[in-house]
Amino acid sequence: MRVAIVYNHRPETLAVVQELEKLLVAHRIVRNDDHPEVVVTVGGDGTLLKAFHRYLPQIDHVRFIGVHTGHLGFYTDWRNYDVDRMVDALSRRQPSSVSYPLLQLKITAKDGVHVYTALNETTLKGIAKTLEARVYIKNEFFESFRGDGLCVSTPTGSTAYSKSLGGAVIHPRLKALQMTEIASINNRVFRTLSSPIVIAPDEWITIIPGEMTDFVVTLDGHQLWHRQIEKLEYRISSHVIRFDKFEHTHFWSRVEDAFIGWDDTGQK
Ligand code: NAD
Repeated sequence: MRVAIVYNHRPETLAVVQELEKLLVAHRIVRNDDHPEVVVTVGGDGTLLKAFHRYLPQIDHVRFIGVHTGHLGFYTDWRNYDVDRMVDALSRRQPSSVSYPLLQLKITAKDGVHVYTALNETTLKGIAKTLEARVYIKNEFFESFRGDGLCVSTPTGSTAYSKSLGGAVIHPRLKALQMTEIASINNRVFRTLSSPIVIAPDEWITIIPGEMTDFVVTLDGHQLWHRQIEKLEYRISSHVIRFDKFEHTHFWSRVEDAFIGWDDTGQK
C-alpha cells in the first residue's frame, strides 16, 4: 500500500501529520507522494481541493481520505484524533470506495483549446462591466445572459459557492451539473431564466461570451488565464473522484452539521 500525505501548515495539522507518519511506519505502509494508491489530506476542504488538482493526472488510480483539523468539512470525514483508527482500517480492510462526478471544462481561445477538470465548480464573471453571454444546452440556444456571471458546479460543489448563489444542494451520487446565475439583469429588455438549472448526464452547456474581454474564468477558486476566450463547454467528466468508503459520513448529516447544526430538540 502506497500512501501520500498532503497537508496545510497550521500547527494543529503538523502535529497530526507527525503522528500519521509514525503510524504508517508502525503498520509498514509505504509513504509515496509520487505514485500513491491512497492520498490522505490533513487540513480542510481547501487542502483536499489542492490534493485533487495535484493528483488529477493519476485520478483513475488513487482514492482520497480527508482528515480535518478544523470543523467537519465536506471532503474530510476523519477527525484529527481518529488517525490511529484510520491507519488501522487502511492496513486491514479490503479497499472500497465511493465515487462522485467531476466537471470537464473545455475552453476554446485564441491560444488554443484547453481542457480542465473541476471538483467544485467553475465560474465565468465580468470584472467591472456586465458579462454578456449566450447560453446553449446540447447545442440548442437557451438564453442570452447579462449580469455578473454564471457558475457551473458538480454535485459535491453544490454545497460550496453554488449554494451561496441560491443553487440547490444535490446529492453527490447524482450524475448532474448545475448552472446558477450571479446577479442577472432582468427587466423589459434583458431576460434570463433566473433559476438554477440541473442538466442530465448526457447533456452539456456551452457559453459563448459576447464581444467584451474583461471577464474572468475560475476553477475551484483559482483563476484561469486565457486571452480572447471564444467558447466554454461544460460536461460531466468521464473521470470520477473516489473516496475511501470505510468512514464516509452520511451526506445529509454532513449538510445538517455544516449549515443547520441544531438537534431535534432545537438545541445547538
Ligand atoms: P476557501 O478555501 O477559503 O474555502 C471557502 C469555504 O468553502 C471554506 O469554508 C471551505 O470549507 C468551503 N468549501 C470548499 N468546498 C466546499 C464544498 N464542496 N462544500 C461545502 N463547502 C466547501 O476558498 P477558495 O480557496 O477561494 O475556494 C475554494 C472553494 O471555496 C471554491 O471552489 C468555492 O466553491 C468555495 N468558495 C465559496 C464562496 C462562497 O460561498 N461565497 C466564496 C469563495 C470560495
